[in-house]
Amino acid sequence: MAEVHLEGIRKAYGDLDILHGIDLDIAHGEFVVFVGPSGSGKSTLLRMIGGLEKISGGTLKIDDKVVNRIDAADRNLGMVFQSYALYPHLTVRDNLAFPLRMAKMRKDQIAAKVQEAAALLQIEHLLDRKPKQLSGGQRQRVAIGRAIVREPKVFLFDEPLSNLDTELRVQMRVQIAKLHRQLGNTMIYVTHDQVEAMTMADKIVVLKDGRVEQVGSPHDLYHRPATRFVAGFIGSPRMNFLPCTLKSKDQARVEIALNEKLTRSLPVQGDFLASGQPLTLGIRPDDFVAPTGAPGELIVDIDVDFVEHLGSATYLYGSALGENIVALSPTDHFHAGKSGQIALAASPSDCHVFTNDGKALPRLEAPKNWN
Ligand code: ADP
Ligand code: MG
Repeated sequence: MAEVHLEGIRKAYGDLDILHGIDLDIAHGEFVVFVGPSGSGKSTLLRMIGGLEKISGGTLKIDDKVVNRIDAADRNLGMVFQSYALYPHLTVRDNLAFPLRMAKMRKDQIAAKVQEAAALLQIEHLLDRKPKQLSGGQRQRVAIGRAIVREPKVFLFDEPLSNLDTELRVQMRVQIAKLHRQLGNTMIYVTHDQVEAMTMADKIVVLKDGRVEQVGSPHDLYHRPATRFVAGFIGSPRMNFLPCTLKSKDQARVEIALNEKLTRSLPVQGDFLASGQPLTLGIRPDDFVAPTGAPGELIVDIDVDFVEHLGSATYLYGSALGENIVALSPTDHFHAGKSGQIALAASPSDCHVFTNDGKALPRLEAPKNWN
């Protein structure tokens, strides 16, 4: 078993507060991704779990044991960083064996463990090479192998794929996800790349300015972002945002006005709001469809700047109500009329509404399934 529990974890460098009290429970075998912009505190948090950085406040437990003051070497964790930190003068075999020799394991056992890790990562044919004779992706696999051989309770990864080119990054992403399935270990993975987070995680922790913005499954974060920040950070192209005001509200709905003529009733809860209060409407690019005539759908007239046909999808770039708009369709139905305008529709259940302090108004319906 390897659960990780964080309670009120804080980090300060002198007077500078970096992490402001992080609470998080990570279950055994879970693949958890910390995602957020550069400087949000992801690495600091991971390094505190790893024992490489002192904890300024709060409690860190691995299983039932408080480890705040336990040395990194005694926490039984395997760490992989962006810089592979392989020993350049040692072969791949000796790089893999190194942590086991340090642990004074028997020679035949070391050989067996190295062989096993090499087979798992498909680097058996590289065992006699030195790191400089390897590609970036191969080096990264050796670095992962070196973490695996010790059979750690928890793997910690800090942006391990950032130095790789795009194609290799996608391959390695799949490899690491498969590895997680095979080993079944608890893994904590740091990235600034929301696509990595969405594709690999069981649970995503979105960090911003040293605070947790939202914790949830990729599905939750995509369909039920709790804040405007999460809504804009998760998903590419980004969610469209349109300013609007609150016209009226009741228990189950709010009516918003985008201008004098365009008002819509949406199934979100805003009892606590004041009429006339400025709000922001959010619509994902892929939630725009051709108008269907369904009652209550929100129709937006878009001035089209240009349309990109990628074969598998079509992107539309334009503006509406003074804001830039991006729409995305798996088919090719974006045909602007002579006026250069196109009317696109969004279902009320796909509309997100945010207050000016960035909180999403709670939605009453369950999220739809992935389609
Ligand atoms: P991320 O990994 O999300 O990019 P970091 O955890 O590396 O962010 O950094 C979080 C914040 O802590 C940043 O503002 C960074 O400048 C600050 N920071 C990191 N290390 C130190 C340090 N040794 N001394 C002072 N500030 C630091
Ligand atoms: Mg970092």
